[in-house]
Amino acid sequence: MKTPSKELKRQGGGIGRPLLAVLVVIALVVLWLAMDDDAGEGLKKQAELKTLEVIGDAATKRLDFGDDGEGTHGSAVDLIKRPIEVRQVADNVHYATGVGNTIMITTGEGNVIFDTGLVLQVAKQLKALKEVSDAPVRYIVLSHSHADHIGGTRYWQEDGTEIIAHGDFLEEQRYLSELEPYQYRRNRTLFPWMPAWEDRPDIAMMRYGGIEPTIAVPDWETFSFTLGGVEFQVIGTPGAEGADNAVLWMPEQKILFSGDFFGPQFPQFPNVFTMRGEKIRKPMEYVKSLDLLIALEPEIVVPSHLNPTVGAEEIRAGMTRIRDAVQYVHDETVAGMNAGKSVYQLMQEIKLPPHLDLVQNHGKVDWAVRSIWDYYASWFHFDSTTELYPVPARDVYADLAQAAGSEALLSMATNYLTQGEPVKTLHIVEVELAGNPGNKAALGLRKQALETLMQRAEEGERNDYEIYWLQARLGDTESRLAADTPL
Ligand SMILES: [Zn+2]
Repeated sequence: MKTPSKELKRQGGGIGRPLLAVLVVIALVVLWLAMDDDAGEGLKKQAELKTLEVIGDAATKRLDFGDDGEGTHGSAVDLIKRPIEVRQVADNVHYATGVGNTIMITTGEGNVIFDTGLVLQVAKQLKALKEVSDAPVRYIVLSHSHADHIGGTRYWQEDGTEIIAHGDFLEEQRYLSELEPYQYRRNRTLFPWMPAWEDRPDIAMMRYGGIEPTIAVPDWETFSFTLGGVEFQVIGTPGAEGADNAVLWMPEQKILFSGDFFGPQFPQFPNVFTMRGEKIRKPMEYVKSLDLLIALEPEIVVPSHLNPTVGAEEIRAGMTRIRDAVQYVHDETVAGMNAGKSVYQLMQEIKLPPHLDLVQNHGKVDWAVRSIWDYYASWFHFDSTTELYPVPARDVYADLAQAAGSEALLSMATNYLTQGEPVKTLHIVEVELAGNPGNKAALGLRKQALETLMQRAEEGERNDYEIYWLQARLGDTESRLAADTPL
């Protein structure tokens, strides 16, 4: 297994190694005590929950102290600092807040749980919701296979609990499990407060995956069930945060439990692509899923992050705008491809018209353009023969730097910066650093170019992922600038 790059290790953050060692020992002792007892499964679960609570508290406390200083602003951190408490949506609908909400619908014949949050928060969420109702959990509905939506499943699951998920859930869970180290590194670049891969609490009860749904719902189909006289419908709605998206609909109360279908906020431009690095998401499938949801005419939308939206008109308008915006970006991209334009041209040209304007702090229009292009045309863009061979331009940068000389390259990089072309500056700096990795003047220019991009991001769309990435690169540049020998 590969270990994270130097760059990632240097970012520090996460729970410190000694603290984690103590936590893991506590976990093992508690587990051993539980196993040693004949009381069996129930007690073992209780012991595991206690351990998870200790680890979860330690992780959250660390963020409260702000050990990381920089690099901790943005919605992901707001989410993890969110206190865990129960909120009520209707007489029979409660949810426990957290990074991911866990929602409980109570009926006279037992309860339905929608999404189970993050494994580190399950102990608190479960305790809080069990105070509302301790009735048997008859169904668990999972919106998709992301870790922040399924983490508590094995703790909510009881004998006879049905687990309902989209038909592609297992396949998505499989690939996310297989690529876990790869994705962990990428996530940690964006979220540097995560512990390093080798420092993470690697204990079985916290591991991702292993969930086996008992009922699978295919694309755009509905699985209906009645519990305690209340009707529930689980609908397969692909194309949002993965191919395995499902939502829960309560037709009598007109409440839609949307998981991540809309992203963490409503309304916003969706993540047709995530730079965290997952499979491409299908744009037109998303539009089709949205059409289906608009037709339901929901009066309340309860997402699995942040707060519900109430009001049929506001919800209808928001969903319609999202649908039309995605359709617009899709159609413009396709038209541009057919007109022979390059992907870069289209990334620059395609903007949402004013009547479809949406915030882009989660999904970003130009990245959606690129992902729609790649979805249809894959990676060979017919631009250059070199694209076909495993020899990137970067392989000749060092020679190029030698031939051009540092002085010429750095003056070119400076000119681009003053002309307001920070990305061109970064290109030139990459050439120079390939030849002279420790060149502080080049690193200084890189820092300025990144700061310009950061300023533009902050003043523009404020896209969280763009900002996280720029923060990570700025941190890396600063440590290179401070180092005595090239890193
Ligand atoms: Zn999520």
